[in-house]
Amino acid sequence: MNRPHWSRLALLAAVCIIFAPLLWADGETQPARDPRQPVDEAYTAKMKKYTTEPFFTSPLVNYLPASKSVPTPEAVLGDVAGAPGILPYAKDVYKYMRMLEKASPRVKVFSIGTTEEGREMVAVAVSSEENLKKLEENRAKLAKLADPRRLQMNDAEADKIVAQAVPVYYITGTIHSPETGAPTALMELAYRLAVDDSAYLKEIRDGMITLITPVVEVDGRDRMVDIYKWHLAHPKDFYPPLVYWGKYVAHDNNRDAMGVTLKLTENVMNTYVKWNAQVLHDLHESVPYLYDNTIGDGPYNAWIDPILADEWQMIGARNVADMTKFGMPGVFAHGNFDTWSPGYLMFIAALHNGISRLYETFGNGGADTLERTLEPEEYARTWYKQNPPLPKVLWSQRDNNNYEETGLLVSLHYFNENKRTFLKNFYLKAKRSIEKPSSEGPTAYVLPADEARPTLQLELLRVLQKQHVEISRTTSSVTVTLPVKKEKKTSKTAEKKETKKDEKPEPTSKTFPVGSYVIRMDQPYSRIADALLDHQYWSPEDPQKTPYDDTGWTFGELYGVHVSRIVDGKILQAPMERVTELRAPGGVKGEGNIFAIENHAEPVLASLRYRLKDVDMQVAEEAFEAGGKKFDAGTVLLKAADRSQLDSAIKEFGVQSVALGTAPNVKSHPLRAARILLLHSWLGTQTAGWWRLALDKLQIPYDYASTQTIAGTADLRRKYDVILFPPVGWGGSLNNIINGLPTEWGNPLPWQNTPETPNLVGKNDATADLRPGLGWDGVAQLHKFVNDGGVFITVMDTSQFAAGIGIATGVSSNNSEKVKIVGAVVGTRVVDGASPIAYGYSEKVPAYCDNGPVFSLSSIAGSRRRRKLGPEMSERPTGRGSKDDPDFAVGRLGREAPEEPEAESWENPNVTDEQRYNNSRVIPPAMRARVVLRYADAKDLLISGLLEGGGEIAQHPAVVDASFGKGHVVMFSINPVWRGETQGTYSLVLNTVMNFDSLDAGRKNDEK
Ligand SMILES: [Zn+2]
Repeated sequence: MNRPHWSRLALLAAVCIIFAPLLWADGETQPARDPRQPVDEAYTAKMKKYTTEPFFTSPLVNYLPASKSVPTPEAVLGDVAGAPGILPYAKDVYKYMRMLEKASPRVKVFSIGTTEEGREMVAVAVSSEENLKKLEENRAKLAKLADPRRLQMNDAEADKIVAQAVPVYYITGTIHSPETGAPTALMELAYRLAVDDSAYLKEIRDGMITLITPVVEVDGRDRMVDIYKWHLAHPKDFYPPLVYWGKYVAHDNNRDAMGVTLKLTENVMNTYVKWNAQVLHDLHESVPYLYDNTIGDGPYNAWIDPILADEWQMIGARNVADMTKFGMPGVFAHGNFDTWSPGYLMFIAALHNGISRLYETFGNGGADTLERTLEPEEYARTWYKQNPPLPKVLWSQRDNNNYEETGLLVSLHYFNENKRTFLKNFYLKAKRSIEKPSSEGPTAYVLPADEARPTLQLELLRVLQKQHVEISRTTSSVTVTLPVKKEKKTSKTAEKKETKKDEKPEPTSKTFPVGSYVIRMDQPYSRIADALLDHQYWSPEDPQKTPYDDTGWTFGELYGVHVSRIVDGKILQAPMERVTELRAPGGVKGEGNIFAIENHAEPVLASLRYRLKDVDMQVAEEAFEAGGKKFDAGTVLLKAADRSQLDSAIKEFGVQSVALGTAPNVKSHPLRAARILLLHSWLGTQTAGWWRLALDKLQIPYDYASTQTIAGTADLRRKYDVILFPPVGWGGSLNNIINGLPTEWGNPLPWQNTPETPNLVGKNDATADLRPGLGWDGVAQLHKFVNDGGVFITVMDTSQFAAGIGIATGVSSNNSEKVKIVGAVVGTRVVDGASPIAYGYSEKVPAYCDNGPVFSLSSIAGSRRRRKLGPEMSERPTGRGSKDDPDFAVGRLGREAPEEPEAESWENPNVTDEQRYNNSRVIPPAMRARVVLRYADAKDLLISGLLEGGGEIAQHPAVVDASFGKGHVVMFSINPVWRGETQGTYSLVLNTVMNFDSLDAGRKNDEK
């Protein structure tokens, strides 16, 4: 009290000098620990020990603050995060997060759903106690920014919220199971955020909410930990590769953000949206040492708001700068990742008005410390990588954790420093999404009420619903004006226009009936709907020559349903109401005990076939009339069915049926619930995984077995009607499919549940050694299966395989050489509509193609083009007359050459008389391959994506039914079942399955 006033001030000043956060020149807080807070010395010493170079850490993570009440990750791990030899199961990670929650009011754990195998997913919120207390209040504020309609689009009101709201930064770890470092890094990050009192960390804690899903692919994580434990128990052996991650797919789990078919995508999507997060930052580990591919490379996705592109530059550049200042080598933000496809998990944020981010750090695929040698292109110094990674280093999981945590902390801090800008941007992006109809268009997409494939239409709408897109339905018919397609100016059309100067092409209009679905573009999440429903064009001239993933995905095309892109604003004035429940109005109409179901290639027909597996179902081979109604070929006829049983199944699947008084007089054959074997190779299970997922969703039963089991199955035909062999993917060559991995050396690679590996098998397949392939006995069994009347369905590389083992009579399959179709939507045409495989399809079938093999037909077995002696003569020789005149020979009258009919690229070549003389190799017409679908002409081939050099594959068969013995090999060059995005082509497969013993129906044979 009696102390002089000045001394108190001096003391205060001194305290400030000692304890004030250190500021960088720009006024930002310097990353440095709080000297007042004790350090956990033992933990810190271990971190230092496991860090292999002093420059592989940073002032942010080279110490761990001590806490008397909050446990460190050591409490669960038994060592520090990133310690060698330690990989926690998801349940251990959760256990720790829940210990944090118990010990600190700054941590809250939320359950966000389960995986396909029933494992829990969580999101951990870390923030100040005050922020966490006001979660709901803050959520309500963010919700207004996320949907500015709640603010009447009032910027001033938005600014008030921007000034107060606490932003949410969502981090997701280990979606890719062999990329193992994130969970421990995120455990430690959560601890630091909860405990560290340095000004740098405190600002993050007080200023924002960090939301963490430490394990995204939980099923895969547990399998990976199993594998690692097996490796530790057998240190001298090779350990098995992670052949399954989740129940269905492996790394493609990060390509599901369009179709949202996997639980992990749905759970992260819902969490992101529910929290109104500003950022979704996904952690990967495949590039040294930290590639912040937020900036990446072009082309950028065409549907993102340019504000986002700027945010990518801001955050990415700053991230690199901060870590470079710490002296950490190998941190960069440009590279070969393009941001075109919206299929990546992080892209949930990009097209829901947030900021998507992705790190590739450097992982060892486990917790071993390894000497790592890089490729020259990895350690080369480039303009964007001025401090590149080192050519050879000892690298540890701790190093990886240091990079991950440092990158995240500088990002969080920078984000917090600029949070008002980012929150305002969040609002602006949402507002601009709502203003889309007037500012940029389109105004809406319409899915008409008179869609012939209502169940597929609903499936597409369900995807949009999972994307949190608002769906409306018109309550009266509406007519809109369609835009006029501008003709391209070529010299010819310019001439044409000259003559018709005054004539403007009339705009056309279109009327949509009442009950049509409208996806309005004046909603906050219009961009994701636009990106999915629009068409894509990737120029072959694009400087980016190696697209990172699919280049085209237009959902309306791939679902085989009508989607109209509307630019007329009138659509938004049409009377309509919001739809929340999507249901196809299935049911039986009329009286009688023969029930007809029109076939429009809807996959649910197969669901119904299998559900009513004892009901007699026939399929009409020709069109017919009944009860005054016309039915097309492919119509399904149910006889003597129990009406109530039929009714409930039909309602469940949304199928419509008409009861007929009498059985129509039409040629028909049975539609069968065929017994299916889905065959996989241990070389890769994921591409086939998308097929399993499709069949499971359609409730179609099947056996699932590897190529190894074929050799040991004596009579395949007795057990199965159809063997599906989806693409193997990487390494799916004929040689590899038959021989598998080398077995002459090394040890067996088991994929089995053991005490060390309790989670490995899950609900999937198992083997004592995943190296052996199909083997030659297996080839013989497949031969026999088809020969005995089985149907073998092959796709892309497995079609190459079928042709290679000689069971695809008259079909050769070659890898394309010039054509470049990178995961694109292409046009195909039905060539033989009488084939049961084509039932329900009209002439044009859009399909997914990824450089499918080029099929060619031959009418002569084993024929090869013979080298001719001398040049090929396709034009007339030098002689009299003009180019089109016949030649003549002096001294005799002219004779016309016989005209040999030319076969089209998709047809069996005609056999000439000369070829037929004593030629045992001429395939009898009834045994020649039957082309069901062909690729469109070159000019019509591209629908969406990248296509270059299409002439090589244009017009060639896309789906061909080859005979062999009593059976069939149905070969696909397209991939009809892909990532849940191609439901429009599912029925090509399902038709083959259900008509397996009648595939020759409607077949017309060539005369010669
Ligand atoms: Zn990855």
